[in-house]
Amino acid sequence: CGVFGIYAPDEDVAKLTYFGLFALQHRGQESAGIATFEGEQVRLYKNMGLVSQVFNEDILNQMPGTIAVGHTRYSTTGSSRVVNAQPAVVNTRLGSLALAHNGNLVNASELRTHLENRNYNEFLTTTDSEMIAIAIGAEVDQGKDWLEAAISAFNLCEGAYSLVIGTPEGVMGVRDPHGVRPLVIGTLGTNPMRYVLASETCGLDIIGAEYLRDVEPGELVWITEAGMASFHWSQKPQRKLCIFEMIYFARPDSVMQDESIYSYRLRLGRQLAKEAATDADIVIAVPDSGVPAAIGFSQESGIPYAEGLIKNRYVGRTFIQPTQSMRESGIRMKLNPLKDVLAGKRVIIVDDSIVRGTTSRKIVKALRDAGATEVHMRVSAPPVTHPCFYGIDTDSQDQLIAATKSVEEIAEQIGVDSLAYVSWDGMMLATQDNANTFCSACFTGDYPIPVPERLKRSKLM
Ligand code: 5GP
Ligand code: SF4
Ligand code: MG
Repeated sequence: CGVFGIYAPDEDVAKLTYFGLFALQHRGQESAGIATFEGEQVRLYKNMGLVSQVFNEDILNQMPGTIAVGHTRYSTTGSSRVVNAQPAVVNTRLGSLALAHNGNLVNASELRTHLENRNYNEFLTTTDSEMIAIAIGAEVDQGKDWLEAAISAFNLCEGAYSLVIGTPEGVMGVRDPHGVRPLVIGTLGTNPMRYVLASETCGLDIIGAEYLRDVEPGELVWITEAGMASFHWSQKPQRKLCIFEMIYFARPDSVMQDESIYSYRLRLGRQLAKEAATDADIVIAVPDSGVPAAIGFSQESGIPYAEGLIKNRYVGRTFIQPTQSMRESGIRMKLNPLKDVLAGKRVIIVDDSIVRGTTSRKIVKALRDAGATEVHMRVSAPPVTHPCFYGIDTDSQDQLIAATKSVEEIAEQIGVDSLAYVSWDGMMLATQDNANTFCSACFTGDYPIPVPERLKRSKLM
């Protein structure tokens, strides 16, 4: 998911949030929502679909305020329905709060029981995100102020959560003690200084905000009329940023933990070429996610980079199924091979990851149909062998092709002449950072935040 927040009394906060979400669209395409605060009055608008489908100028014009929070969703818990769209709004003793969540709690059912035991049992949704909002509301109702209430609630939450929370007083930005999901702070103008929160720096760039720094793991920033205050509320923060953000999920023009995502992916491609070069005529990418690594592979190996697949940028999510005859003729909605580039060539194709292997198999077939004489696949992440419990939807373990098959078996299944993945060490080397500051559990099964047995059983073989 993508989250965004802003405190800016002299700006059109709804519109700025719209543009922020627009830049974070890649983080979730199911639903979008914005909540604004004009003093005590909260206005919420959310619906299914892309940001540009959900909002228009009229809707945004009816959302005045000094504070706004926004969300783009892709579901990891809770079904894909409009009630589950965010922000989640909850009424409390001190007024409403609006919460936007990126991540996934691992103790959602325990948290729900805890809340039900305190007579909070009116859940509108099936999401862990609403539970966090209700937990904060419950603490407020006990007499705490916003800050104390939020910190008490976070101490009940286990798992991954980057949150942006709007209240009548100000906006909060929070990361869980492991900082699994990203969240950055930006400034907008200097006199007066306005603050912005976004999942990624690309959400700041689009509105002309300047990147200040990341919210730290276990940190809460509280942005009010008085400016920005920081609270390190966790006793033992331990940096474990999701490495899959770096490899695949984040936009290449974002910066995370002081690293350019694009440069990281380029280095991954170089590392991959060092580990698994082979003779070929051209290097191509699976667009868009494989492009930086393919360029890096080409630079390191000296094999020319070419465009071999053209992507329809407007596919997005289509709800209209292709006709039977389209399906039979193998029509490719998303990627179309360039025959004149591929015919008669030995091709190295680079992608960022193989998850189920279904996409890769179709692509390899398309390359051969277009006349490629050899197809060698190179993958800029190690084999995905374990499911994610922290907010990336990489499926249950039995769906992951590398969980049950060797590299040779996968090569055979997807129909390539050779297949190689970057090594785990190589992936970590390319980060230029300390390996133990990242979560890489989907490649190792070494989960940095303990996953309760019951939840494990739901996704592990
Ligand atoms: P596969 O061959 O496993 O079917 O698909 C691999 C492709 O899926 C890669 O191009 C990669 O960019 C993309 N991918 C990787 N992780 C995810 C994910 O969590 N969700 C979705 N929708 N695609 C992913
Ligand atoms: Fe990211 Fe994988 Fe860890 Fe999930 S398990 S947080 S996808 S590195
Ligand atoms: Mg891809």
